[in-house]
Amino acid sequence: MSFRIPHLQIGSAEIIALADAEGPFFSPRAEAFPEATATQWAEADRCDPGGVDAEGRWHLQFRAYAVRSDNGLTVVDAGIGPADGPAASWAPVPGSLPASLAAAGIDPAEVDTVVLTHLHTDHVGWAVVTEEAVPSQGGARDGNVSASGRRPYFPNAEYLLQRAEFDALDTINPQLRETLTDPLAAAGRLRLLDGDTPLRAGRVVATPGHTPGHQSVLIAHGHQTALITGDLLVHALQLLHPELAYAHEVDPETARHSRKRMLRREPAGTLHLATPHLTEPFLPV
Ligand SMILES: [Zn+2]
Repeated sequence: MSFRIPHLQIGSAEIIALADAEGPFFSPRAEAFPEATATQWAEADRCDPGGVDAEGRWHLQFRAYAVRSDNGLTVVDAGIGPADGPAASWAPVPGSLPASLAAAGIDPAEVDTVVLTHLHTDHVGWAVVTEEAVPSQGGARDGNVSASGRRPYFPNAEYLLQRAEFDALDTINPQLRETLTDPLAAAGRLRLLDGDTPLRAGRVVATPGHTPGHQSVLIAHGHQTALITGDLLVHALQLLHPELAYAHEVDPETARHSRKRMLRREPAGTLHLATPHLTEPFLPV
């Protein structure tokens, strides 16, 4: 069986795109980007033809990324999750991240770092799983399983979240306390960051606005830079017109500022965008 896994090499780091799902957005796309003009929509559809379906709905990918380097293995975001995951009310669960990881030759147990870009349910789905959805390997209950029967899907990883995001949990989605952050904290796997932070390969960059503590991952070597964006931009519209707000941004002005700052092109180099929701897993800009 051949299963092509998209990847991008930046220096000694290999960035691997991990498909979890795809499907239509839950509301009309004009409501998601109320300021976009007909001309801008037409440009965006030419830029990303896969981002619109035959009925004119916004068609999204849901993907995570892995970064493999000599220093370790990082996963950025955790998709929509299993059938009983927190995104089940709106996203096409179950996702296929476990199969994508296997196809990429990645055992969840070898992942040492998980970066959660933000606390929306389509980015944390596989971070913590229930025993019912994903039984522990070998059936042995390890010390990671919480009283609610939940455990980190990546059992040996440290999960990185911005403190500003954790502090905003009650306004973003209070249910994630029980299903995500409490089990991670109980397993000793949650580490809160204060702004930009070095990783084993690359670094975390604070990109607030979509949510208060949104973060992205930057990997640079020579003139080549990859940015694993999270929801810094969610549609080709925001790549072509970074000033355009997305209706579900908590702070549109701050989001716009983060987007413009990160998308500013360096004249001598290439910036490769690795986005969860656009059709192409890697986009040179
Ligand atoms: Zn998202």
